[in-house]
Amino acid sequence: MTVAVVLFTSDLRLHDHPPLHAALASADEVVPLFVLDDAVHDAGYDAPNRRAFLADCLHDLDAGLRERGGRLVLRQGDVADEVGRVVTETGAGAVHLAAGVSAFARRREERLRETLSSMGCPLRVHDAVITAVAPGAVVPSGAGRDHFAVFTPYFRRWSGEGTRSPFRAPRTVRVPKDPGSLPLPSRSGLTGLSPGLAEGGETEGRKLFGAWRRNGLASYEDRHDDLAGDATSRLSPHLHFGTLSPTELVERAHAAGGPGAEAFVRQLCWRDFHHQVLAARPEASRSDYRPRGDRWRTGRAAEKDTAAWKEGRTGYPIVDAAMRQLLHQGWMHNRGRLLTASFLTKTLYIDWRTGARHFLELLVDGDIANNQLNWQWVAGTGTDTRPNRVLNPVTQAKRYDPQGEYVRRWVPELAGIAGPGIHEPWKLPGSERSRYDYPDPVVGLPEGLARFKDARGLD
Ligand code: FAD
Repeated sequence: MTVAVVLFTSDLRLHDHPPLHAALASADEVVPLFVLDDAVHDAGYDAPNRRAFLADCLHDLDAGLRERGGRLVLRQGDVADEVGRVVTETGAGAVHLAAGVSAFARRREERLRETLSSMGCPLRVHDAVITAVAPGAVVPSGAGRDHFAVFTPYFRRWSGEGTRSPFRAPRTVRVPKDPGSLPLPSRSGLTGLSPGLAEGGETEGRKLFGAWRRNGLASYEDRHDDLAGDATSRLSPHLHFGTLSPTELVERAHAAGGPGAEAFVRQLCWRDFHHQVLAARPEASRSDYRPRGDRWRTGRAAEKDTAAWKEGRTGYPIVDAAMRQLLHQGWMHNRGRLLTASFLTKTLYIDWRTGARHFLELLVDGDIANNQLNWQWVAGTGTDTRPNRVLNPVTQAKRYDPQGEYVRRWVPELAGIAGPGIHEPWKLPGSERSRYDYPDPVVGLPEGLARFKDARGLD
């Protein structure tokens, strides 16, 4: 009887799972294994919202495996040690794993390789599981160029590359009897969760995608920036935990066709783009990808401004609405992410790492590649070809929330202000203004802009 281990990480699904497919094709029995990694915990990366979503995902994965005659084996500790232990207990002849991208995932892979090679057990690493196109699969021409630093040429090459055909979910999964498992973690009992947190798991992800493909995809191109309409897919946590396969989403969007589907596929390409940057420059999770000589504000005033930004009390209703959506749902609309990040880094001139850390503490889709590199993009230290662009929160509000409905939803203390006037409460006459318990702007926009231009040496 041959046995193979499949180590699940950010790929918590049964559909289109190349490591599982390969393991089932090459062994009689398979151990589907997940390790609650102490290192993730020690790095503070297991924020409550993501722990809750992960718990849902593990339950759903286990249920899917049980329907097929198997079950999930859960361990906790050091990943390499735990995998080694399971290999010894089951006499497994190979371990299958999806290739990771971050420095953390690479180190895990190296440690696994070391441990397993000393046991004579090969580690089989599968590409294009976590992304649709593997980082490094397309690179610009020219010696020594290992990644694309600009999105548009990457998108062109990525689109030409094509993706493999997705694998079906297996019909049966035979699991050996011996490996013991810890009880699966549960959402209940976790504290510090956003009250409107989404539900995790592959079943939920597939349901969400199906509904969105029928009702949202066609109008995505026109409506993706409509803050109040909330008309994006909300699939990001499922992509982060891998309960949905990016390859399958690209294929099914292409099959649906039309401008909405094309625009959606382009966003999935942005995800791959940031992953290939991080794979080539792992230090970009912390260090400026393109340093601009910034000397970000620090000290008491900067701390006060940061606290107001985190709480959603900057006095700019659109910024505050988005920051409160983040607190409440552990998720924020992309337009909100862009304008709140621009406000922190360029209007308040506070280090992007401060904002990225706060996002990672709350975002259920919080992802090193997408979060850190989007923050850098907005801060102008990343891959944006116009690094000094500043998003004016009032202009953004009038364009993407023209009637103020999004602000009214998240900043209820201003709900009494009709129409677009809600975006500039400081313009109300004094007597009316005092009716609303809402702060004055932390900084005037011209002042913020002048400070930023001065800091960056712009005219
Ligand atoms: P849709 O608009 O439906 O897009 C479909 C999918 O495409 C998304 O689920 C996502 O996987 C991908 N995608 C869309 N836009 C981007 C983008 N700009 N970069 C990379 N992938 C994209 N996304 C994360 O998944 N995790 C993060 O931690 C994260 N942090 C961000 C921080 C900042 C400052 C900014 C500006 C953006 C960040 N994003 C992040 C990207 C984007 O905002 C979210 O992916 C998107 O809002 C998720 O909503 P959705 O699933 O409805 O997206």
